[in-house]
Amino acid sequence: MRFWVQTFGCQMNEHDSERLAGLLLADGMEPAGGVDEADVVVVNTCCIREHADERLYGFLGRLKPLKVRRPDLRIAVGGCLAQKDRERVLARAGHVDVVFGTGNLMAAPELLRRAAQLGRPVVEVREVRDSAVGAGAANARGGDGPGAPARGGVVPRAQRHRAWVTIQQGCDNSCAFCIVPAVRGPEVSRRMGEIVDEVAALAADGVREITLLGQNVNSYGRDLGAGRFRPRFADLLRTLDGVEGIERIRFTSPHPKDLRSDTIAAMAECRAVCPQLHLPLQSGSDRILARMHRGYTAGRYLDRLAAARDAVADLAVTTDIIVGFPGETDEDFEATLAVVDAARFDAAYTFLFSPRPGTAAAAMTDEFVPETVARARFERLVALVNEHAWARNRERIGRCEPVMVDGPSKRDPTRWSGRSPQGKLVHFPPGPVPPAPGEVVPVRIEHAAPHWLAGRIAA
Ligand code: SF4
Repeated sequence: MRFWVQTFGCQMNEHDSERLAGLLLADGMEPAGGVDEADVVVVNTCCIREHADERLYGFLGRLKPLKVRRPDLRIAVGGCLAQKDRERVLARAGHVDVVFGTGNLMAAPELLRRAAQLGRPVVEVREVRDSAVGAGAANARGGDGPGAPARGGVVPRAQRHRAWVTIQQGCDNSCAFCIVPAVRGPEVSRRMGEIVDEVAALAADGVREITLLGQNVNSYGRDLGAGRFRPRFADLLRTLDGVEGIERIRFTSPHPKDLRSDTIAAMAECRAVCPQLHLPLQSGSDRILARMHRGYTAGRYLDRLAAARDAVADLAVTTDIIVGFPGETDEDFEATLAVVDAARFDAAYTFLFSPRPGTAAAAMTDEFVPETVARARFERLVALVNEHAWARNRERIGRCEPVMVDGPSKRDPTRWSGRSPQGKLVHFPPGPVPPAPGEVVPVRIEHAAPHWLAGRIAA
C-alpha cells in the first residue's frame, strides 16, 4: 500500500505530517509519488491560515473522482480544522473515510484499518483538554507523548541534515485573533529526557541542525515535574547544547511577555544555539496589544529585544505583525511603524487581519477596519519592513558567513543555497566539487537583497 500526506498549514503541521508519514511507514506502507498513485491519502489540515477550509474542501473535491474510480482508496482528514469541524467534514465530503483530531494523530493507521473493516466512515476526535491529559499521561509512561515520533518508528525528513523537534503542544494564552488554544488545547510539554533522546537519535542519523517547535517555547516545562526538578526552556537549551553532532539549534516561537533573562543567557552561552530570534510583535500600539490580550506593551517588547541584542552577538530578529486588527486607528498603525523603525527587524511576516471563526476578534465585527484602509496600511508596512531587511542584509556584504549547505536551489539548480547561523538564505555557486548537504562552508557575501544574500565559497 502506498500513502500520500497532503499538508496545509504551519511548521507545526508540517512536522506533524512527517510524524504521520513515519507512522504509516512503520505500519508497512510506502510513500507514493503523488495523490494519483496513492492507496491512502491523509490530509493534515490547519485552521490558522486564511481560507483554510476552502483549500481543504477544494482538495477533497479533487479526490472525489479518484474515489469513484477506485473505491478502495482510503481518505483520512486530520489536524486542527478536523478537530474544529469534525461533523462538517463528513457532511461536505461524504467520500472521506476517517476524521481524526489533533490528539489522535498516533491512532491514524489504526483508524484507517477500522474504517476499511467496517466499510463506513470513522470519526475520532478527543476533546483537546482530554487529549492533553492523555498525552501527558503517555509522556509520564515514557513514550508517544505530544510531538513524539512513532514508537520505534522512522520519521522521514525533508532534509537529511535538518529536523524539527516538537517540545510542547497547545497554548495557555488567549490571544484574541488565534484559534490555537481552542484546537490544540492547553500547553503540554514533552519530558526533557524524551526530547534529548530524540535529538541524540537524530544526530546519530546525520542531523546537524534542529529547530525546536512549540507555541510558546519560553513556558516549556511549566507543566512538568510537580514537586521535583521542573526544567525550564533555558535548561533544555543547555542540555541539548551538549548533544554530540548537533551543530545548530534554533527554536520557534518565544512569546515576548515570557522571554526571560535565563533564556537569553542560555542563548548567549550555548555554542550551538543560533543567534536568531523570532519574536512576534503583532502590533506596536499598546491599546491594540491590550485588545489582542498579548500581555506586553511596545516598550516592554523593545526592552526584551534590547536585552537579547546586548547578550547575543550579531543577533538576527524576525517577527510577525498583524495589520487592521479590529479597532486599529491610524494612530495605532503609526505606533506599529515606529516600533518597526526602532526594532530594525531582519524580516517580518506581515498579515492582513482576517477573522477566524470562534476567536474573540471574530466577534468584533462593528470595529472591523475597512479593507481598503487595511490594505493601504499593509503596503506601507511591507515597504518599511523590506527597507530595514535590505539595509540589515547589506551590512553583511564583505563578511564571511558559515553557511550550512542545503543543496541546489529549487529555481536555479546551477545556484546552491544554505543558511547562515542567523537563518539567512545564502546563494552561492557550488564550484567544481560541490559541498555535501549539511556541510558548513565559508561564503564571502557579495550581494544582498531584502530576503537573501549571495556570495562565493571563500578559499
Ligand atoms: S501565544 Fe497567542 S498567538 Fe501564540 S498560539 Fe498562543 S494564543 Fe495563539
